[in-house]
Amino acid sequence: MRGVFCFRNDLRLTDHPALSLALEKCQRLFLVYVFEDRIWKASSSRKMGPFRAKFILESLRDLDVEIKSRQGCLHYLYGCIEEEIPRFMAEMNCTHCFLQEEDAWEEQQTEKNLSKLVNLQTISGSTLIHSQDLPFEVHDLPPTFTQFRKRVEENLKIREPLRTNHNLQSCKNPQKALPSSDLPKLNPPALDPRSSFLFTGGSVPGRLRMTQWFWEENAIGTYKITRNGLLGSTFSSRLSPWLAQGCLSPREIFFEIKNYEKSRGANESTYWLIFELFWRDYFHFVARKYGAQLFHRKGIHPQRPNRNEPKDSHERFDKWKFGATENQFVNANMNELRLSGWMSNRGRQNVASYLIHDLGLDWRWGAEWFERQLIDFDPCSNYGNWLYLSGYGNDPRPGRSFNLNKQAEIYDPTGEYQRLWSSANTPTSS
Ligand code: FAD
Repeated sequence: MRGVFCFRNDLRLTDHPALSLALEKCQRLFLVYVFEDRIWKASSSRKMGPFRAKFILESLRDLDVEIKSRQGCLHYLYGCIEEEIPRFMAEMNCTHCFLQEEDAWEEQQTEKNLSKLVNLQTISGSTLIHSQDLPFEVHDLPPTFTQFRKRVEENLKIREPLRTNHNLQSCKNPQKALPSSDLPKLNPPALDPRSSFLFTGGSVPGRLRMTQWFWEENAIGTYKITRNGLLGSTFSSRLSPWLAQGCLSPREIFFEIKNYEKSRGANESTYWLIFELFWRDYFHFVARKYGAQLFHRKGIHPQRPNRNEPKDSHERFDKWKFGATENQFVNANMNELRLSGWMSNRGRQNVASYLIHDLGLDWRWGAEWFERQLIDFDPCSNYGNWLYLSGYGNDPRPGRSFNLNKQAEIYDPTGEYQRLWSSANTPTSS
Protein backbone atom coordinates (compact mmCIF):
# COMPACT_ATOMS: atom_id res chain seq x y z
CA MET A 1 0.00 0.00 0.00
CA ARG A 2 1.16 3.56 -0.75
CA GLY A 3 -0.07 6.11 1.75
CA VAL A 4 0.25 9.61 3.17
CA PHE A 5 0.49 10.53 6.81
CA CYS A 6 -0.47 14.12 7.55
CA PHE A 7 0.80 15.68 10.79
CA ARG A 8 -1.38 18.30 12.50
CA ASN A 9 -1.32 18.83 16.30
CA ASP A 10 0.78 15.69 16.74
CA LEU A 11 4.32 16.78 15.89
CA ARG A 12 6.14 13.73 17.26
CA LEU A 13 7.27 10.26 16.26
CA THR A 14 6.96 8.43 19.59
CA ASP A 15 3.75 7.17 21.17
CA HIS A 16 1.87 7.95 18.02
CA PRO A 17 -0.80 5.31 17.31
CA ALA A 18 -1.92 6.79 13.97
CA LEU A 19 1.62 7.03 12.63
CA SER A 20 2.43 3.52 13.85
CA LEU A 21 -0.61 2.18 12.01
CA ALA A 22 0.36 4.01 8.81
CA LEU A 23 3.92 2.65 8.98
CA GLU A 24 2.64 -0.85 9.60
CA LYS A 25 0.20 -0.79 6.69
CA CYS A 26 2.18 1.02 4.01
CA GLN A 27 5.18 -0.22 2.09
CA ARG A 28 5.63 3.37 0.91
CA LEU A 29 4.56 6.24 3.15
CA PHE A 30 4.86 9.99 2.55
CA LEU A 31 5.02 12.24 5.60
CA VAL A 32 3.36 15.61 5.13
CA TYR A 33 2.60 18.82 7.01
CA VAL A 34 0.14 21.31 5.55
CA PHE A 35 0.47 24.99 6.41
CA GLU A 36 -3.27 25.52 6.48
CA ASP A 37 -4.52 28.80 5.05
CA ARG A 38 -7.27 29.04 7.65
CA ILE A 39 -4.59 29.31 10.34
CA TRP A 40 -1.44 30.60 8.66
CA LYS A 41 -2.62 33.11 6.06
CA ALA A 42 -2.24 36.74 7.09
CA SER A 43 -6.01 37.25 6.87
CA SER A 44 -6.47 34.52 9.49
CA SER A 45 -3.68 35.77 11.70
CA ARG A 46 -6.15 36.36 14.50
CA LYS A 47 -5.78 32.62 14.97
CA MET A 48 -2.00 32.52 15.12
CA GLY A 49 0.23 34.98 16.92
CA PRO A 50 4.00 35.09 16.51
CA PHE A 51 4.89 33.16 19.68
CA ARG A 52 2.96 30.06 18.67
CA ALA A 53 4.05 30.35 15.05
CA LYS A 54 7.67 30.35 16.17
CA PHE A 55 7.06 27.36 18.45
CA ILE A 56 5.40 25.35 15.66
CA LEU A 57 8.20 26.10 13.19
CA GLU A 58 10.75 24.97 15.77
CA SER A 59 8.70 21.83 16.39
CA LEU A 60 8.64 21.09 12.66
CA ARG A 61 12.38 21.54 12.42
CA ASP A 62 12.85 19.16 15.34
CA LEU A 63 10.53 16.63 13.71
CA ASP A 64 12.32 17.06 10.40
CA VAL A 65 15.70 16.34 12.00
CA GLU A 66 14.33 13.26 13.75
CA ILE A 67 12.73 11.97 10.53
CA LYS A 68 15.94 12.54 8.56
CA SER A 69 17.97 10.75 11.21
CA ARG A 70 15.76 7.72 10.49
CA GLN A 71 16.30 8.01 6.75
CA GLY A 72 12.90 9.57 5.96
CA CYS A 73 11.75 13.02 4.89
CA LEU A 74 8.91 15.44 5.59
CA HIS A 75 7.00 17.32 2.86
CA TYR A 76 5.47 20.74 3.31
CA LEU A 77 2.30 21.73 1.51
CA TYR A 78 0.37 25.00 1.58
CA GLY A 79 -3.36 25.63 1.43
CA CYS A 80 -6.27 23.56 2.55
CA ILE A 81 -5.88 19.96 3.71
CA GLU A 82 -9.00 18.88 1.82
CA GLU A 83 -7.50 20.12 -1.46
CA GLU A 84 -3.79 19.55 -0.98
CA ILE A 85 -3.89 15.99 0.35
CA PRO A 86 -5.98 14.53 -2.51
CA ARG A 87 -3.79 16.39 -5.02
CA PHE A 88 -0.59 15.13 -3.39
CA MET A 89 -1.98 11.59 -3.16
CA ALA A 90 -2.79 11.58 -6.85
CA GLU A 91 0.68 12.90 -7.68
CA MET A 92 2.36 10.22 -5.57
CA ASN A 93 0.00 7.39 -6.49
CA CYS A 94 -1.21 6.89 -2.95
CA THR A 95 -4.38 5.05 -2.04
CA HIS A 96 -4.69 5.81 1.68
CA CYS A 97 -4.34 8.74 4.02
CA PHE A 98 -3.75 8.53 7.78
CA LEU A 99 -4.36 11.19 10.43
CA GLN A 100 -4.42 11.46 14.18
CA GLU A 101 -8.06 12.05 15.11
CA GLU A 102 -8.50 15.48 16.67
CA ASP A 103 -11.11 16.41 19.26
CA ALA A 104 -12.10 19.97 18.32
CA TRP A 105 -14.86 20.75 15.86
CA GLU A 106 -12.96 22.47 13.01
CA GLU A 107 -10.32 19.75 12.91
CA GLN A 108 -13.07 17.11 12.92
CA GLN A 109 -14.76 18.89 10.00
CA THR A 110 -11.50 18.58 8.07
CA GLU A 111 -11.52 14.83 8.77
CA LYS A 112 -15.15 14.51 7.65
CA ASN A 113 -14.54 16.47 4.45
CA LEU A 114 -11.37 14.59 3.63
CA SER A 115 -13.01 11.21 4.20
CA LYS A 116 -15.45 12.03 1.40
CA LEU A 117 -12.55 12.50 -1.00
CA VAL A 118 -9.97 9.84 -0.10
CA ASN A 119 -9.57 6.58 1.81
CA LEU A 120 -8.97 7.99 5.27
CA GLN A 121 -8.00 6.23 8.49
CA THR A 122 -7.91 8.15 11.75
CA ILE A 123 -6.91 7.03 15.24
CA SER A 124 -7.09 9.03 18.44
CA GLY A 125 -3.89 9.76 20.30
CA SER A 126 -4.31 13.16 21.93
CA THR A 127 -5.68 12.19 25.34
CA LEU A 128 -4.28 10.39 28.35
CA ILE A 129 -7.21 7.99 28.57
CA HIS A 130 -8.09 6.38 25.27
CA SER A 131 -11.72 7.10 24.46
CA GLN A 132 -12.37 3.35 24.16
CA ASP A 133 -11.16 2.86 27.73
CA LEU A 134 -13.64 5.33 29.22
CA PRO A 135 -16.24 3.67 31.48
CA PHE A 136 -18.97 5.43 29.42
CA GLU A 137 -19.57 6.52 25.85
CA VAL A 138 -18.35 10.03 25.01
CA HIS A 139 -21.95 11.18 24.48
CA ASP A 140 -22.65 10.13 28.09
CA LEU A 141 -19.73 12.15 29.46
CA PRO A 142 -20.60 13.28 33.02
CA PRO A 143 -21.69 16.94 33.20
CA THR A 144 -19.03 17.94 35.74
CA PHE A 145 -15.30 17.34 36.01
CA THR A 146 -15.54 15.81 39.49
CA GLN A 147 -18.04 13.20 38.33
CA PHE A 148 -15.82 12.47 35.31
CA ARG A 149 -12.67 12.12 37.43
CA LYS A 150 -14.32 9.84 39.98
CA ARG A 151 -15.71 7.57 37.29
CA VAL A 152 -12.41 7.24 35.42
CA GLU A 153 -10.39 6.78 38.60
CA GLU A 154 -12.55 3.84 39.74
CA ASN A 155 -10.89 1.65 37.16
CA LEU A 156 -8.16 3.69 35.57
CA LYS A 157 -6.64 2.30 32.41
CA ILE A 158 -3.79 4.19 30.75
CA ARG A 159 -2.24 2.46 27.78
CA GLU A 160 1.55 2.11 27.71
CA PRO A 161 3.17 4.60 25.30
CA LEU A 162 4.06 3.09 21.93
CA ARG A 163 7.75 3.06 21.19
CA THR A 164 8.14 4.00 17.55
CA ASN A 165 11.69 3.18 16.58
CA HIS A 166 10.83 2.49 12.97
CA ASN A 167 13.33 3.15 10.30
CA LEU A 168 11.63 5.62 7.99
CA GLN A 169 13.39 4.54 4.81
CA SER A 170 9.96 3.89 3.28
CA CYS A 171 9.27 7.61 3.72
CA LYS A 172 12.29 8.77 1.79
CA ASN A 173 11.81 11.20 -1.06
CA PRO A 174 13.74 14.16 -2.47
CA GLN A 175 13.86 16.56 0.44
CA LYS A 176 11.98 19.82 0.28
CA ALA A 177 13.62 22.32 2.60
CA LEU A 178 11.54 24.03 5.26
CA PRO A 179 10.51 27.16 3.40
CA SER A 180 10.53 30.49 5.13
CA SER A 181 9.78 32.98 2.37
CA ASP A 182 6.27 31.63 1.73
CA LEU A 183 5.32 31.59 5.36
CA PRO A 184 2.87 34.14 6.73
CA LYS A 185 4.53 37.44 7.47
CA LEU A 186 4.53 37.31 11.26
CA ASN A 187 6.93 39.61 13.01
CA PRO A 188 9.46 37.49 14.86
CA PRO A 189 8.69 37.93 18.53
CA ALA A 190 11.31 39.79 20.51
CA LEU A 191 12.06 38.07 23.79
CA ASP A 192 10.86 40.32 26.58
CA PRO A 193 13.60 40.29 29.22
CA ARG A 194 10.92 39.91 31.89
CA SER A 195 9.92 36.47 30.55
CA SER A 196 10.95 33.80 33.02
CA PHE A 197 11.09 30.97 30.52
CA LEU A 198 12.05 30.48 26.91
CA PHE A 199 9.91 27.88 25.15
CA THR A 200 11.51 26.01 22.28
CA GLY A 201 9.33 23.80 20.11
CA GLY A 202 9.96 20.11 19.46
CA SER A 203 9.93 16.75 21.24
CA VAL A 204 13.59 17.01 22.25
CA PRO A 205 13.21 20.38 24.08
CA GLY A 206 9.90 19.09 25.53
CA ARG A 207 11.59 16.05 27.05
CA LEU A 208 14.41 18.23 28.29
CA ARG A 209 11.90 20.42 30.15
CA MET A 210 10.31 17.32 31.64
CA THR A 211 13.68 16.01 32.82
CA GLN A 212 14.70 19.35 34.28
CA TRP A 213 11.44 20.03 36.08
CA PHE A 214 10.89 16.48 37.35
CA TRP A 215 14.37 15.22 38.10
CA GLU A 216 16.84 18.11 38.32
CA GLU A 217 14.67 20.75 39.97
CA ASN A 218 12.57 18.12 41.78
CA ALA A 219 9.76 20.63 41.34
CA ILE A 220 7.04 18.05 40.74
CA GLY A 221 7.48 16.99 44.37
CA THR A 222 6.04 20.31 45.60
CA TYR A 223 3.75 21.13 42.67
CA LYS A 224 0.52 21.06 44.68
CA ILE A 225 1.83 23.89 46.87
CA THR A 226 3.47 25.96 44.15
CA ARG A 227 1.03 25.52 41.22
CA ASN A 228 -0.78 28.82 41.77
CA GLY A 229 2.43 30.82 41.40
CA LEU A 230 2.99 33.79 39.12
CA LEU A 231 6.73 34.43 39.19
CA GLY A 232 9.61 32.28 37.95
CA SER A 233 9.51 29.11 35.92
CA THR A 234 9.33 26.26 38.42
CA PHE A 235 5.90 26.71 40.02
CA SER A 236 4.22 24.67 37.28
CA SER A 237 5.46 22.23 34.66
CA ARG A 238 5.12 24.53 31.58
CA LEU A 239 4.54 21.41 29.52
CA SER A 240 1.37 22.79 27.92
CA PRO A 241 2.86 24.07 24.61
CA TRP A 242 4.47 20.67 23.92
CA LEU A 243 1.19 18.94 24.76
CA ALA A 244 -0.82 21.34 22.61
CA GLN A 245 1.33 20.76 19.52
CA GLY A 246 1.63 17.07 20.28
CA CYS A 247 5.44 17.15 20.67
CA LEU A 248 4.84 15.15 23.87
CA SER A 249 1.98 12.77 24.48
CA PRO A 250 0.10 12.90 27.78
CA ARG A 251 0.89 9.21 28.24
CA GLU A 252 4.64 9.88 28.07
CA ILE A 253 4.17 12.44 30.84
CA PHE A 254 1.96 10.10 32.89
CA PHE A 255 4.54 7.29 32.80
CA GLU A 256 7.33 9.73 33.64
CA ILE A 257 5.31 10.72 36.72
CA LYS A 258 5.00 7.02 37.59
CA ASN A 259 8.79 6.60 37.21
CA TYR A 260 9.36 9.57 39.47
CA GLU A 261 6.94 8.14 42.05
CA LYS A 262 8.76 4.78 42.00
CA SER A 263 12.13 6.39 42.40
CA ARG A 264 11.44 9.36 44.71
CA GLY A 265 8.05 8.61 46.16
CA ALA A 266 4.47 9.46 45.39
CA ASN A 267 2.77 12.33 47.16
CA GLU A 268 -0.14 14.74 46.73
CA SER A 269 1.89 16.81 44.29
CA THR A 270 2.72 13.98 41.93
CA TYR A 271 -0.95 12.99 41.98
CA TRP A 272 -1.94 16.58 41.28
CA LEU A 273 -0.12 16.69 37.98
CA ILE A 274 -2.13 13.64 36.91
CA PHE A 275 -5.24 15.40 38.20
CA GLU A 276 -4.48 18.33 35.86
CA LEU A 277 -3.98 15.96 32.95
CA PHE A 278 -7.48 14.66 33.73
CA TRP A 279 -8.75 18.25 33.35
CA ARG A 280 -7.14 18.38 29.94
CA ASP A 281 -8.77 15.08 28.99
CA TYR A 282 -12.11 16.27 30.30
CA PHE A 283 -12.08 19.33 28.05
CA HIS A 284 -11.06 17.19 25.08
CA PHE A 285 -14.01 14.86 25.66
CA VAL A 286 -16.31 17.86 26.25
CA ALA A 287 -15.23 19.14 22.82
CA ARG A 288 -15.97 15.79 21.23
CA LYS A 289 -19.35 15.58 22.89
CA TYR A 290 -20.58 19.09 22.14
CA GLY A 291 -18.84 19.85 18.83
CA ALA A 292 -19.63 23.33 17.51
CA GLN A 293 -21.63 24.21 20.64
CA LEU A 294 -18.32 24.82 22.41
CA PHE A 295 -17.96 27.97 20.32
CA HIS A 296 -21.51 29.27 20.74
CA ARG A 297 -22.10 32.18 23.05
CA LYS A 298 -24.45 30.17 25.27
CA GLY A 299 -22.38 27.04 24.84
CA ILE A 300 -24.00 23.91 26.16
CA HIS A 301 -26.80 25.79 27.97
CA PRO A 302 -28.69 27.64 25.23
CA GLN A 303 -31.73 27.96 27.52
CA ARG A 304 -29.90 30.16 30.03
CA PRO A 305 -30.59 33.93 29.75
CA ASN A 306 -28.44 36.25 27.68
CA ARG A 307 -26.25 38.85 29.32
CA ASN A 308 -26.55 42.45 28.15
CA GLU A 309 -23.57 43.99 26.39
CA PRO A 310 -22.29 47.34 27.64
CA LYS A 311 -22.40 50.19 25.07
CA ASP A 312 -18.64 50.77 25.20
CA SER A 313 -17.80 47.09 24.83
CA HIS A 314 -15.10 47.62 22.16
CA GLU A 315 -13.33 50.22 24.25
CA ARG A 316 -13.44 47.94 27.29
CA PHE A 317 -12.12 45.04 25.26
CA ASP A 318 -9.19 47.06 23.91
CA LYS A 319 -8.25 48.13 27.41
CA TRP A 320 -8.35 44.52 28.56
CA LYS A 321 -6.22 43.30 25.65
CA PHE A 322 -3.56 45.94 26.10
CA GLY A 323 -3.31 45.90 29.89
CA ALA A 324 -4.98 49.27 30.41
CA THR A 325 -7.95 48.41 32.65
CA GLU A 326 -8.54 49.85 36.11
CA ASN A 327 -7.22 46.67 37.68
CA GLN A 328 -3.42 46.37 37.98
CA PHE A 329 -3.46 42.62 38.57
CA VAL A 330 -5.37 42.08 35.32
CA ASN A 331 -3.09 44.50 33.47
CA ALA A 332 0.07 42.74 34.61
CA ASN A 333 -1.23 39.37 33.45
CA MET A 334 -2.42 40.75 30.11
CA ASN A 335 0.95 42.40 29.53
CA GLU A 336 2.73 39.16 30.23
CA LEU A 337 0.47 37.32 27.79
CA ARG A 338 0.89 39.84 24.98
CA LEU A 339 4.65 40.20 25.35
CA SER A 340 5.61 36.61 26.10
CA GLY A 341 2.81 34.35 24.78
CA TRP A 342 2.35 32.94 28.25
CA MET A 343 0.19 33.41 31.34
CA SER A 344 -0.10 31.28 34.49
CA ASN A 345 -3.28 29.34 35.20
CA ARG A 346 -4.05 31.67 38.13
CA GLY A 347 -3.70 34.66 35.82
CA ARG A 348 -5.92 33.08 33.14
CA GLN A 349 -8.70 32.41 35.63
CA ASN A 350 -8.60 35.98 36.87
CA VAL A 351 -8.42 37.87 33.60
CA ALA A 352 -11.19 35.69 32.17
CA SER A 353 -13.42 36.29 35.18
CA TYR A 354 -12.74 40.03 34.87
CA LEU A 355 -13.67 40.14 31.18
CA ILE A 356 -16.85 38.16 31.70
CA HIS A 357 -18.12 39.43 35.05
CA ASP A 358 -16.56 42.86 35.61
CA LEU A 359 -16.45 44.15 32.04
CA GLY A 360 -19.60 42.27 30.98
CA LEU A 361 -18.17 41.20 27.61
CA ASP A 362 -18.85 38.18 25.43
CA TRP A 363 -16.47 35.44 26.67
CA ARG A 364 -15.68 34.46 23.07
CA TRP A 365 -13.84 37.74 22.52
CA GLY A 366 -11.48 36.82 25.33
CA ALA A 367 -11.14 33.24 24.07
CA GLU A 368 -10.26 34.49 20.57
CA TRP A 369 -7.64 36.84 21.95
CA PHE A 370 -6.14 33.95 23.92
CA GLU A 371 -6.25 31.80 20.79
CA ARG A 372 -4.07 34.31 18.99
CA GLN A 373 -1.70 35.08 21.84
CA LEU A 374 -1.12 31.82 23.69
CA ILE A 375 1.90 29.74 22.83
CA ASP A 376 0.04 26.72 24.27
CA PHE A 377 -3.31 27.34 22.58
CA ASP A 378 -5.36 24.16 22.44
CA PRO A 379 -8.94 24.64 21.19
CA CYS A 380 -10.46 22.17 23.67
CA SER A 381 -8.68 23.52 26.77
CA ASN A 382 -9.04 27.16 25.80
CA TYR A 383 -12.68 27.27 24.75
CA GLY A 384 -13.58 24.67 27.42
CA ASN A 385 -12.07 26.77 30.22
CA TRP A 386 -13.56 30.02 28.93
CA LEU A 387 -16.99 28.47 28.53
CA TYR A 388 -16.70 26.99 32.02
CA LEU A 389 -15.97 30.41 33.51
CA SER A 390 -18.71 32.08 31.45
CA GLY A 391 -21.43 30.07 33.17
CA TYR A 392 -22.52 28.38 29.92
CA GLY A 393 -20.26 25.35 30.30
CA ASN A 394 -19.52 22.58 32.77
CA ASP A 395 -19.23 24.55 35.99
CA PRO A 396 -21.57 23.01 38.59
CA ARG A 397 -21.85 26.48 40.19
CA PRO A 398 -22.30 28.68 37.12
CA GLY A 399 -21.56 32.38 37.23
CA ARG A 400 -18.93 32.35 39.94
CA SER A 401 -16.60 35.31 39.69
CA PHE A 402 -13.29 36.09 41.33
CA ASN A 403 -12.72 38.98 43.72
CA LEU A 404 -9.71 40.36 41.87
CA ASN A 405 -8.34 42.40 44.76
CA LYS A 406 -8.49 39.43 47.08
CA GLN A 407 -6.83 37.23 44.48
CA ALA A 408 -4.00 39.73 44.05
CA GLU A 409 -3.57 39.88 47.84
CA ILE A 410 -3.34 36.10 48.09
CA TYR A 411 -1.24 35.31 45.04
CA ASP A 412 0.85 38.49 44.74
CA PRO A 413 1.03 39.69 48.34
CA THR A 414 4.10 41.90 47.87
CA GLY A 415 2.96 43.21 44.48
CA GLU A 416 6.20 41.99 42.90
CA TYR A 417 4.43 40.37 39.95
CA GLN A 418 2.32 43.46 39.29
CA ARG A 419 5.40 45.70 39.40
CA LEU A 420 7.30 43.42 37.05
CA TRP A 421 4.62 43.44 34.36
CA SER A 422 3.14 46.88 35.06
CA SER A 423 4.60 48.38 31.92
CA ALA A 424 2.86 47.53 28.66
CA ASN A 425 6.12 47.97 26.75
CA THR A 426 9.15 45.81 26.71
CA PRO A 427 11.75 47.63 28.81
CA THR A 428 14.77 48.69 26.75
CA SER A 429 18.21 48.80 28.26
CA SER A 430 19.61 52.33 28.42
P1 FAD B 1 0.56 22.65 34.89
O1 FAD B 1 -0.06 23.32 36.05
O2 FAD B 1 1.94 22.16 35.05
O3 FAD B 1 -0.40 21.45 34.47
C1 FAD B 1 0.07 20.33 33.70
C2 FAD B 1 -0.78 20.18 32.47
O4 FAD B 1 -2.13 19.91 32.83
C3 FAD B 1 -0.85 21.41 31.60
O5 FAD B 1 0.27 21.51 30.76
C4 FAD B 1 -2.15 21.20 30.84
O6 FAD B 1 -1.96 20.34 29.75
C5 FAD B 1 -3.02 20.49 31.87
N1 FAD B 1 -3.89 21.46 32.55
C6 FAD B 1 -3.65 22.13 33.69
N2 FAD B 1 -4.72 22.89 34.02
C7 FAD B 1 -5.63 22.72 33.04
C8 FAD B 1 -6.92 23.24 32.79
N3 FAD B 1 -7.52 24.11 33.62
N4 FAD B 1 -7.55 22.87 31.66
C9 FAD B 1 -6.98 21.99 30.79
N5 FAD B 1 -5.78 21.46 30.99
C10 FAD B 1 -5.10 21.81 32.09
N6 FAD B 1 -4.33 25.18 28.62
C11 FAD B 1 -3.82 24.85 27.43
O7 FAD B 1 -3.02 23.92 27.34
N7 FAD B 1 -4.17 25.56 26.31
C12 FAD B 1 -5.04 26.61 26.34
O8 FAD B 1 -5.33 27.18 25.29
C13 FAD B 1 -5.57 26.99 27.60
N8 FAD B 1 -6.40 28.05 27.72
C14 FAD B 1 -6.92 28.38 28.96
C15 FAD B 1 -7.83 29.46 29.06
C16 FAD B 1 -8.36 29.81 30.30
C17 FAD B 1 -9.35 30.94 30.40
C18 FAD B 1 -7.99 29.10 31.45
C19 FAD B 1 -8.54 29.46 32.79
C20 FAD B 1 -7.11 28.02 31.36
C21 FAD B 1 -6.58 27.65 30.12
N9 FAD B 1 -5.68 26.55 29.99
C22 FAD B 1 -5.18 26.22 28.75
C23 FAD B 1 -5.40 25.68 31.14
C24 FAD B 1 -4.19 26.05 32.00
O9 FAD B 1 -4.21 27.39 32.36
C25 FAD B 1 -2.87 25.72 31.29
O10 FAD B 1 -2.90 24.39 30.81
C26 FAD B 1 -1.69 25.82 32.24
O11 FAD B 1 -1.63 27.09 32.82
C27 FAD B 1 -0.43 25.51 31.48
O12 FAD B 1 0.69 25.62 32.31
P2 FAD B 1 1.51 24.36 32.77
O13 FAD B 1 1.83 23.49 31.62
O14 FAD B 1 2.64 24.85 33.58
O15 FAD B 1 0.42 23.64 33.65
